[in-house]
Amino acid sequence: MIAKMYLTDTHTHLYLPEFESEGGSSAVDRAIAAGVEKLLFPNVDLTTVDPMMSLAAKYPDNISMAMGLHPTEIGENWQTDLSTIMAYLDKSPEKFVAIGEVGIDLYWDRTFREQQMKALAIQFSEAVKRHLPVIIHCREGLSEVLDVIDGGDVPQGVFHSFGGTVDDVERIRRRGDFYFGINGIVTFKNSRLRDTLPAIGIDRILLETDSPYLAPVPHRGKRNESSYIVAIAAYIAQIFDISIEDVAAITTKNAMRLFRI
Ligand SMILES: [Zn+2]
Repeated sequence: MIAKMYLTDTHTHLYLPEFESEGGSSAVDRAIAAGVEKLLFPNVDLTTVDPMMSLAAKYPDNISMAMGLHPTEIGENWQTDLSTIMAYLDKSPEKFVAIGEVGIDLYWDRTFREQQMKALAIQFSEAVKRHLPVIIHCREGLSEVLDVIDGGDVPQGVFHSFGGTVDDVERIRRRGDFYFGINGIVTFKNSRLRDTLPAIGIDRILLETDSPYLAPVPHRGKRNESSYIVAIAAYIAQIFDISIEDVAAITTKNAMRLFRI
């Protein structure tokens, strides 16, 4: 008999407009049917708060939320926007298990590099103050993220959508006991992540989909959804030469430990 799998998607945006045509709930239902009993929704910007909170409210036993301001949304008005985001945390702290997603993204545009770093420092210290972990989005910005960590409070957290090298893992580890969010990128043919995963170790890996982005093989190029996390778990099971049930159980335990869900 095969034991029931108990998977956790630690990073999924099923509340975005990409899922609106089917009412949002369908993708959550398919995830639960596939064994993904816990989902973590990280916020993006001011426009995503309401859709995120209303979808999460329909599944109080399955969906947890994180509140934060995404680095690509840091612009001229970042200070006002950040205050608004933090006000949601103050208003209902019991609703959020983490601050996120936060970070540095210089892939598209470097204009607001300084502002991104300031906003990140503020959100890191809020996390420490509130005893919450952080969900870090880092694209072309690892040195900046590490500089912010070195210059202030060091929260607990996860480097979400991690795609780095063994050297990156070591640079991060020197700063604290961080987790690494692994998604569909690991299944891509050109990815070197399979060489990095053993250096991370299964005890510090969190599974995520980053839906609707980065669909794993064999769904690559399509809209991603949380039920596809099974393909990611299967791939990681191969790399570590353990069963997919073990990958599900261990990574779920990791998520419960970090987010206290
Ligand atoms: Zn995200």
